[in-house]
Amino acid sequence: MLIDPFGRSIDYLRLSVTDRCDLRCFYCLPKGFKNFEEPEHWLTFDEIERVIRAFGALGTRRVRITGGEPLVRKNLPALAARLQKLPGIDDLSLSTNAVKLARHAEDLHNAGVRRLNISLDSLDAKRFQQITGGKLQKVLDGLMAAKAAGFSPIKINMVVMKGVNEDEVEAMVDFCIEHGFTLRFIETMPMGSTGREAVDHYVDLHTVRKKLEQRFELIPGVMPGGGPARYLQVAGTDLRIGFITPISQHFCETCNRVRLSVDGTLYLCLGQKNKFELRPLLRAGISDTKLAAAIRHAITLKPKRHEFNEKPSQIVRFMSATGG
Ligand code: SAM
Repeated sequence: MLIDPFGRSIDYLRLSVTDRCDLRCFYCLPKGFKNFEEPEHWLTFDEIERVIRAFGALGTRRVRITGGEPLVRKNLPALAARLQKLPGIDDLSLSTNAVKLARHAEDLHNAGVRRLNISLDSLDAKRFQQITGGKLQKVLDGLMAAKAAGFSPIKINMVVMKGVNEDEVEAMVDFCIEHGFTLRFIETMPMGSTGREAVDHYVDLHTVRKKLEQRFELIPGVMPGGGPARYLQVAGTDLRIGFITPISQHFCETCNRVRLSVDGTLYLCLGQKNKFELRPLLRAGISDTKLAAAIRHAITLKPKRHEFNEKPSQIVRFMSATGG
């Protein structure tokens, strides 16, 4: 098992397969941004498989494929099929904006991915376009294809923002009840210049809960998954609503994860600079034993908690670069 210096067991890896994205959510990536990782720095599928195999042997049970937008990376279902077979890895999931999901849903399901998180900040096409620069219909098509392919659960992630989409939380609840999706609300984090600017739109999710309680009866709910969301269920329905509150009520004491970016950097915390570079070791022909030792060492660098509130300017990386 991988145990960090604060006694937390690290059994969850977020794997970013690209830092590129086919959307430009204003709070995540700046318009016109070009400074992406060089292709020769991208871990190859063989390198990724090797690292995930090593993590699996060290007790990692869950892997979530993310990005950037993971479906922008060519042949992603083939990578998923390889990862799904690795010893120890018994939960392979994917985070996506769903723009390209209609095309890939079946292949991903056949590859063994079962759980999907899909970002959706607005159900209004014009507003969706303003937030993301993309087309809502593609995402809705992707969602329906995912449903048809048999993914379960499908979780909708909505970053709730004042003056942007805060007035849509009830519509999103209705949408998720109608389609049998799970809904998660997320607080805006000051990641990179974009995230810091978006903090003007920050909403404490406590207020969202209060608003929903005026219309729905919310009862304690649980949801499988290794994440930090606190769940409530809408009484009389199957809908579970997760509240992810990194800012108003952080959950670092139960953090169980690290993040591997496309260039092979292991980030130990979303909100701190602590990192460890695996790519140079992989490309220098490191042995399996030394790779395991390197990963164990990296875990000793995991900080106690993020400091988004105390040091909001600290993290210059965009969420898309770290792997959200
Ligand atoms: N492209 C995939 C997707 O859309 O789910 C995976 C990567 S995306 C960076 C992961 C999540 O991070 C998305 O739900 C996005 O809304 C969220 N995100 C990006 N920047 C954020 C910020 N500054 N604060 C809070 N959430 C953010």
